[in-house]
Amino acid sequence: MTDTTNDLAELCAKSGTKFILAMFVDLRGKPCAKLVPVEAVDELATDGVGFAGYAVGAIGQEPRDPDLMAIPDTSSFLPIPFIKEGLAIVHCDPHVEGKPWPFAPRNILRALIAQAEDAGFEPWVGAEVEYFLLKRAADGSLVTADDADDSDQPCYDVRGLTRMYEHLTAVSTAMNQLGWSNYANDHEDGNGQFEQNFAYSDALTTADRVITLRYLLSTIAAERGMVATFMPKPFAERTGSGLHLHLSLTSNGRPVFPAEFGDDRGLGISPTAYGFVAGVLEHACALQSVMAPTVNSYKRTGATATRSGASWAPRVPTYGGNDRTHYIRIPDDQRVELRGGDGSANPYLAIAAALGAGLDGIKRSLDPGALGTCPEHVGTLPLTLLHAVDALEADPVVAGTLDAAMTEEWPADKQSVSDYFSKLKREEFFAWHSAVSPWEVDQYLTAF
Ligand code: GLU
Ligand code: MG
Ligand code: MG
Repeated sequence: MTDTTNDLAELCAKSGTKFILAMFVDLRGKPCAKLVPVEAVDELATDGVGFAGYAVGAIGQEPRDPDLMAIPDTSSFLPIPFIKEGLAIVHCDPHVEGKPWPFAPRNILRALIAQAEDAGFEPWVGAEVEYFLLKRAADGSLVTADDADDSDQPCYDVRGLTRMYEHLTAVSTAMNQLGWSNYANDHEDGNGQFEQNFAYSDALTTADRVITLRYLLSTIAAERGMVATFMPKPFAERTGSGLHLHLSLTSNGRPVFPAEFGDDRGLGISPTAYGFVAGVLEHACALQSVMAPTVNSYKRTGATATRSGASWAPRVPTYGGNDRTHYIRIPDDQRVELRGGDGSANPYLAIAAALGAGLDGIKRSLDPGALGTCPEHVGTLPLTLLHAVDALEADPVVAGTLDAAMTEEWPADKQSVSDYFSKLKREEFFAWHSAVSPWEVDQYLTAF
C-alpha cells in the first residue's frame, strides 16, 4: 500500500464517505466521473479507475486506444454529504499506460504551474462564476426561473435575492462547509443571473473549484426544478455570463505585483505586473480561443448594448484601473482581473493559457503602453470563434501552453494538443455556420 492509498482510505473513513465520484474533465470542460464504492478505495488510489478515452469526449483518444486511468489527487478530496449522504468528489489526473496524458486539462495546468515555478513564481487565482437560473415553461422552452424577475434594473436586486433565497443559501452553506469562504452572493445584471463568490487559492485548487461549483450549482438548482446555465450568452438582450479570473504571483511567498517604489501610471503596480499585463494583451486574441471557446461566446464579447445599457464584457484588449469596461481591470496593486473569459471556458485551460501569456510578457519585459490603450498590432478581440482559432494557430506562445504537458517522448508524427484543440473548435464553428438561423429566414425569405 502506498501513502496515497492510506490517505484516501483514511479520508473516507474520517468523513463517513461511502462513495467517491472520481472526476476529471475533457478539453471542452465536460465533467466525467465514475462512482467508486469505498470498498474499492485502495484500488482507486493505487491504479486509478479506467475510462474509454474516446467515449469521454475531446481528450485526444481513438476507440482503439488503451484505457485512460483517472488517478485521484488525494489533496482535492471533498466530501459533499449535502448532495448525497456519504458522497465525496476527488479530482483525478488522467494517465495512459502509466504516464500523465498530455491532453488532460488538469495535467496541462500542472505543467504551466511548474513553468511559473521555474521562473520563480507561485501563481494565485480567484474565479467568478456567473450563471442564469432557468426553468422549463409549459411549451418546453427554458425561461427565467424567477417569474417576478422582469425588472429593467435587476442588478443587485434585493427582492430577487429573497425570492431565490433557498437556492442561494443552499449553495452558500455548501461552499462554506467545503472551506471555500463564500463571501458574497449577488443578483447580476441580467434578469435571473447570479454570482456566488469564493476566496482565491492556488491555481489548481481554483480550477478544481470552478468545476466542482458548476456541478454543485446545477445539482442544487435541479433539486428545485431549475436549470443552472453557464452558457456565455443565453439571451441576446441581457448581459452574458463571464468567468472573470483574478491572477497574482508571489515569489518565495512575497507578492510581486505591488510596486516597491510607486509607479508613474498611478496603479501602484510593479514592472513585473506591467509585464504580465502586457503579455496578456499581446496574446489576447489567441487567448480568447481558450477563454471564450464556443460560437456563443462571441455574442457576449461582441454585444453592442443590452437592456441595462452595458454589456460589462470587453470588445477590445485594453487595460485600466478599477474600471469594468477593460479587458484587464486592475482594482488594486495585488492582482489583475481578466474579464475576457466566459462560462463555457475550461478553467484549467483558461488559467494555463493566461499564465502562459502573462509569463511571456514578464520574460520579454513587455510594456502595455498607456492606460486604456492596447498594443497597435493586436487590434480588437476576435469577432468569432473562427477568428480566435486563427489567432491561436498564429500564436506559438498560447498554442505552446496547450502543448505544455507533452513531453519529449511524445512522438513527433502524432497530433499536438493545440492542433487537436484548433481542429475541434474550427469544426464547431463550421457546424454552427452551416445551420440556417431563424434570424436569416426572417431577414431574407421575402426580401428580394
Ligand atoms: N456579466 C458580465 C460579463 O459577461 C460581467 C459583470 C460583472 O462585472 O460582474 O462578463
Ligand atoms: Mg459578476
Ligand atoms: Mg468580476
